[in-house]
Amino acid sequence: MKKVYLDNASTTQLLPEVILEMTKILTEDYGNPSSTHSLGRNAKSILELSRKSIAKHLNATAAEIIFTSCGTEANNWILRSAVKDLKVARIITSKIEHHAVLHTALALQNEYGIQVDFVKVKSNGAIDITHLVELLSQEKKTLVSLMHVNNETGTILDLSKVSQICKEHNTLFHSDTVQSIGKIEVDLQKTPIDFIVASAHKFHGPKGVGFAFVRKNSGLQPLFFGGEQEKGQRPGTEAIHQIAGMAKALELSYSNLNEDRNYISELKNYLTERLKGDFPDSKINGENTFYNLVNVILPFTADKTSMLLFNLDMKGIAVSRGSACQSGSIRPSHVLAEMLTDEDLKKPSLRISFSHFNTKEDIDLLMEGLKSI
Ligand code: PLP
Repeated sequence: MKKVYLDNASTTQLLPEVILEMTKILTEDYGNPSSTHSLGRNAKSILELSRKSIAKHLNATAAEIIFTSCGTEANNWILRSAVKDLKVARIITSKIEHHAVLHTALALQNEYGIQVDFVKVKSNGAIDITHLVELLSQEKKTLVSLMHVNNETGTILDLSKVSQICKEHNTLFHSDTVQSIGKIEVDLQKTPIDFIVASAHKFHGPKGVGFAFVRKNSGLQPLFFGGEQEKGQRPGTEAIHQIAGMAKALELSYSNLNEDRNYISELKNYLTERLKGDFPDSKINGENTFYNLVNVILPFTADKTSMLLFNLDMKGIAVSRGSACQSGSIRPSHVLAEMLTDEDLKKPSLRISFSHFNTKEDIDLLMEGLKSI
């Protein structure tokens, strides 16, 4: 049975070049980058070349890239240290953030008694910028944390605009860019943002590695303590093969960006046309959404809804309902809950997300699968 993988917002297939790079490093370059002998120096050089390469693609300096174990860790670190060390007394965020931000902000509210304010979300999934500006009029040391591309609906935040607004209000700005890094150009010289985070497995790199961009002289302090790795900002022996795999994946993502983006956008158009034709009562969630993702409400009855993902899975088709972290859960998605009416929330929403590995045939198989349910 052909496997149809349409869950790329959840994770992506490794690029063959990434596997080759990682295998070579695992086999030959096993030194510890903190060792002074030649194997160690070799590992250190791989580490620093990876950092330079990642920084170059984002127009940052190498010193501003700190490697972490994943996007979740990077988000936790930035929010927590902002409160603990930078004395942020208030976090402005939204209820459609990934739980790595949302749950961290709430935990910090509990632990430190900081104020957490939520910017309104419009029914089309966009952040209400007028409300953000209103919230920023309060005098309190504040961190704004708003994601770039939403992992469930693909709605996009205007990073340039929001970073300018934050700068004008003398406010720190963090963006969870896990869904956008490697998929859209981000210029950190032109965008006055303080912190962003990324995760390699979202752009065809390995799981278990990510990075934080922390603007120079931010004052952020480490979450845990140990060696001098990452200039003491993130101790622990660096996973060189993961880091080099991530750098390779990012390099390939950006060198093929235009071609891949055009190709994936065409797949998305094809899917939306087919949905209109085969399910005229379906409804896309969100407006002006990212090119790799469609979140759609399907006009299915309750009896069909409960078994939807299971039935597609039996046909070899992998898609997601809400966010991947919640698949299998019967709770409605916390993101859709902010956008949809109660009636629409009861209907099944599917998240279909593409990569350049997908074809129109995958979409045809998905549509056949949905029609046969
Ligand atoms: N932030 C967003 C927007 C995500 O989509 C994800 C992954 O689903 C994460 C954070 C967490 O990243 P990681 O899987 O690297 O911990």
